[in-house]
Amino acid sequence: MSMVEFRDVTKRFGDNVVLNGVTLDIDAGEVVVVVGPSGSGKSTFLRCINVLETIQGGELRVDGISVTGTPEQVREIRREAGMVFQQFNLFPQMTALENVMFGPVHTRGMPRAEARQQAQALLAKVGLAERMDHYPSELSGGQQQRVAIARALAIKPKLMLFDEPTSALDPELRHEVLQVMKTLADEGMTMIVVTHEMEFARKVGSRLVFFDGGKVAHDGPPTELLANPPSQRLKDFLQHVA
Ligand code: ADP
Ligand code: MG
Repeated sequence: MSMVEFRDVTKRFGDNVVLNGVTLDIDAGEVVVVVGPSGSGKSTFLRCINVLETIQGGELRVDGISVTGTPEQVREIRREAGMVFQQFNLFPQMTALENVMFGPVHTRGMPRAEARQQAQALLAKVGLAERMDHYPSELSGGQQQRVAIARALAIKPKLMLFDEPTSALDPELRHEVLQVMKTLADEGMTMIVVTHEMEFARKVGSRLVFFDGGKVAHDGPPTELLANPPSQRLKDFLQHVA
């Protein structure tokens, strides 16, 4: 069974057809890098997976559960899919530790002591053992994004969704975030990553998906697609991000 299964999925905002018959299977353990022009529907694609957006046609299943299922099923999908956004979205009035504890305590009813222990371990894992009691405003962008990754991992997701996780960061801070993502990939996490980081795509991605005009225009091994772009559209796109 696929971890994520799109079958002829349509997503519209009014008359604007953003996903126009997307069919795609993602298996457990894959690291799928998603690229495409601005406005091509990459964020919407991710948001449909964890049901931040509803679909208008087709079928979309996450770990076998339909996004058009019952409210309980939708909650289950959200528990299984952790998401990391471009703008970190940490709670500013909470320390790093409290940010990571919040989901387990408030949405899963985990005892605070257990949540604290888990949060400490996760923050150590992302290299922030020394920064647990700092507030987001006291952390660099790269550190904040690593807290956001730890926070997403705290719900023990089966799948991680990343929406341009390094785009808001200065170039010198991107590496520490990409390194954490690489570690996760090496551990076998299923990941869908929207990014312009082509080196990450080449070295860590198991698959590259190019969105264009609401459809999956290309889907294949990153090294091959990047070395020999099969269309002028992809060639042009790659020249822009390089
Ligand atoms: P990308 O992430 O590839 O830049 P998006 O998924 O953000 O693309 O957007 C795809 C299209 O959907 C754009 O035309 C955008 O304006 C539109 N769109 C995205 N979110 C909304 C929304 N909440 N309401 C209306 N239109 C939206
Ligand atoms: Mg986007």
